[in-house]
Amino acid sequence: MQHDMTEQSRENNQEELEKQVFDLKQLLEISKSLNSTLDYHILIDSILYTIMGQMKVLKAALYAKKGIDSTSFSLHRNYKGFELEPGIDYSLPEDIPAIKLFSKDYRCYTLKEIKKILGNYGGLDCLVSLNPSLLVPLKTKGVINGLILLGDQILGTDFTGYEKEYIINIATLAAIAINNAFLFEMTTTDMMTKLRLKHYFYTVLMEKMEQSALANQPLCVIMTDIDNFKHFNDTYGHNCGDIVLKEVALIIQKLIRPTDIAARYGGEEFCVMLPSTTPKQAKTIADRIRSHVEKTVTDYEGMKLSITLSLGVACYDPDLDISAKYLIDRADKAMYRSKQEGKNRVSVWE
Ligand code: GH3
Ligand code: MG
Ligand code: MG
Repeated sequence: MQHDMTEQSRENNQEELEKQVFDLKQLLEISKSLNSTLDYHILIDSILYTIMGQMKVLKAALYAKKGIDSTSFSLHRNYKGFELEPGIDYSLPEDIPAIKLFSKDYRCYTLKEIKKILGNYGGLDCLVSLNPSLLVPLKTKGVINGLILLGDQILGTDFTGYEKEYIINIATLAAIAINNAFLFEMTTTDMMTKLRLKHYFYTVLMEKMEQSALANQPLCVIMTDIDNFKHFNDTYGHNCGDIVLKEVALIIQKLIRPTDIAARYGGEEFCVMLPSTTPKQAKTIADRIRSHVEKTVTDYEGMKLSITLSLGVACYDPDLDISAKYLIDRADKAMYRSKQEGKNRVSVWE
C-alpha cells in the first residue's frame, strides 16, 4: 500500500513537471510570436487571441494608453466578446486607486477582491457591468502600461492559482511587446497629422515593391500637394494652415483601406501607397480624395475656408523602378503635371 502511494505521487509529480515543461515551451512560443510584430493593432489582436486560447475564455479586452502624453487608459477597439453599452465612458484615468494597487502588488485580481481590499472598486466602476472574471494588469519597467479583462472560462471553473501565475507570465511578455510596438509607432508617426513619416513609408514601400514583383500584383503610389498653401498661410495664419493640414490628413486616412499606408512626405505633401491596386483604381481613389478635400469647409474664426489638392499617380514597374525613390519620383512628376495644368486635379504618370 505504502509502495503504491509513493508510486502514485511520483506519477503525479511527473505529470505536473511535464505540464510545466509544456507550459514553458508555450511561453517561449508566445514570446516569439508577440515579438515578431511591431504593428500595434495586429499585436493587440495577437495578445487577446493568445490569452483566450491559453485560458479558454470567450471574452477578452485590452486597455492601453493612446499616446505618450495620455493620462488615461483606453479600451482598445479590438475587444472580443464583451458587449459595451453606448454612452458609457470606459476609459480609466491612470491615477485611480486600482491602478496604484496593481502597481504596488502586481498580480491578477477579481473585481470582488479589489472591493475587499480597497472598500470600493477603486475607480473601476465602469467595468462592473462588463462582469469580467479576471483583471490582468500589464507592467513593464516598473510601470503599469495596460490592463487585460477576461470573461468566464468556457467550463465555468474559477482560475486556479497556477493559471493566474501563468497568465501573469504572458502579461509580462505582452507588456514588453506593447511597449516596443508603442515606441515604434511613436517614432514612425508624424505627431501633427498622425500619418506615418517619410522614412517609414520608404522602407515599407521597398518591401511592398518586392512582394508585388513576386506575386505579379500591381502597386500604386499617390503623391499630393496642397494648392497655393503659402498664400493660404499668409492670408489666414499658420495656425489655421495647421488645422487644414490635419483635416486633409484625416480625409486621406478615412478614404483609404487599412492595408494602404499614408504618410506625411513633406510640409504639406502627403503620399499614399496602395498595394494590389491598378492605376485605374488608384486614379479613382485619388479623385475621391481630391473631390472630398475640395468640398470640405473649415470653420475658422467665423470664416468658411477650403483648399484644393493636386495629385499624381504612378504604378510600380519592375523595369523602371529600381528603388522606391524612382516610383515616388514618377508620382511626384505626375503631381507636377497636375500643378502645371491648373491644379486641383489628378494626373497619372505615363
Ligand atoms: P503650389 O500650389 O505650387 O503647391 O503652391 P504652394 O504655395 O502650396 O507652394 P509649396 O507647395 O511650395 O508651399 C509649401 C508651403 O506650405 C510653405 C509653407 O508655408 C506651407 N507649409 C509647409 N508645412 C507646413 C506646416 O506644417 N504648417 C503650415 N501651416 N504650413 C505649412
Ligand atoms: Mg509643397
Ligand atoms: Mg503646395
